[in-house]
Amino acid sequence: MLNVKPSKKLIYLDYAATTPVRPEVLRAMQPFWSQDFGNPSSLYKAGLVAKRAIDTSRKTVAGILNARPQEIIFTAGGSESINLAILGAARKYRETHKTGGHIITSSIEHHAVLHSVNQLEKEGFKVTRIKVDRQGFFDLNELEKSFRKDTVLVSLMYANNEIGTIEPIREIAGIIRNANAKRLKLATRNSQFETILFHTDACQAAGFLDIDVNHLGVDLFSINGSKIYGPKQTGCLYVRGGVSLQPIIFGGGQERDVRSGTENVPGIVGFARALELAQKERTKESKRLADLRDYLISKILKIVPSAVINGPRKDRLPNNVNVTLPNAEGEAVMLYLDGFNVAVATGSACTSESTEPSHVLKAIGASDADARASVRITLGKYTTRQELDYLLRVLPDVVKTVRGMEKLS
Ligand SMILES: *Cc1c(COP(=O)(O)O)cnc(C)c1O
Repeated sequence: MLNVKPSKKLIYLDYAATTPVRPEVLRAMQPFWSQDFGNPSSLYKAGLVAKRAIDTSRKTVAGILNARPQEIIFTAGGSESINLAILGAARKYRETHKTGGHIITSSIEHHAVLHSVNQLEKEGFKVTRIKVDRQGFFDLNELEKSFRKDTVLVSLMYANNEIGTIEPIREIAGIIRNANAKRLKLATRNSQFETILFHTDACQAAGFLDIDVNHLGVDLFSINGSKIYGPKQTGCLYVRGGVSLQPIIFGGGQERDVRSGTENVPGIVGFARALELAQKERTKESKRLADLRDYLISKILKIVPSAVINGPRKDRLPNNVNVTLPNAEGEAVMLYLDGFNVAVATGSACTSESTEPSHVLKAIGASDADARASVRITLGKYTTRQELDYLLRVLPDVVKTVRGMEKLS
């Protein structure tokens, strides 16, 4: 094997899995662990201090999303926001209609969406999963044809966590608005008119894209702290005024009765600070990362001529590179790179414990073998050109070694 020493410093290239907490966020959270630790529901001073911190954070987050503070529900992360949006909207429908309705989603969503929708299917809801093209863009013609009289909810993601595809959320919102307008026209005076709700999983978008919920035209919007240099298990769900959800966590009635439990005050403060910084820096940082991404892509294609980039050229997250290295098992490439102290992902972090090939790569038409021979390299705040050059120095030999192994077996 290659005569290059493992990097002393960890070269972390898996920012789509999670990010480190940045120092400004840590500092903002610090007072709320042991000093201002009161329960925000308590009415004495110590409680009010905590309550005020949450109120301020809620205003900050609402301002960034162009929402009203009462439309922000703090949760314990992206998965919880998504579960609350999907299960909450669907079960509310069943509560009023005494029957399951219809849900539209796609085949390339994060597992938090896929599995929530699967659960609803078990509970009697009908589901349409729209297809994507080779780059991972949704088939919007299929979306237009998928609406039914009993469609409750559309859940389609903003940016894909594996291949970086940025979906046209505004256009999708327009299609749903048209479907709602048609519904309104058909509604008779005595039949109750209900709009189809639009939820988007924006967990990969908050660091790079426009997250103005009114500009986007969404009703439900999930983001988290763990992808934007905030604490893990933090995030929020935006719930447009007038939309009601059945809770998935019951208890003391915090968060407007939608999400009970004593608030994670340091987490909420940290999440708000992280979002504030991410959005302030997003234009500049997106540009910097897109340049590094394009540099990495062009170099990889040069040094491993058989390599194939998955996902689009245009409308791609600025930090995402997903590459198939034919005949080189992704898992083995990842482990060899780890030996050099370089962290990359195979498929998505969430599927790394299973040996199933990525459902996203399969959905864009990859064979099982190619899906297994893929790695995801995602860049972030601390990524430098030097780090990428180190990866590029070791990659050809890693690929050669792994291919050699496969010939032997
Ligand atoms: C990370 C991620 C999630 C899950 O968020 P958690 O905070 O880990 O629960 C959901 N969707 C996408 C697209 C993600 O990248």
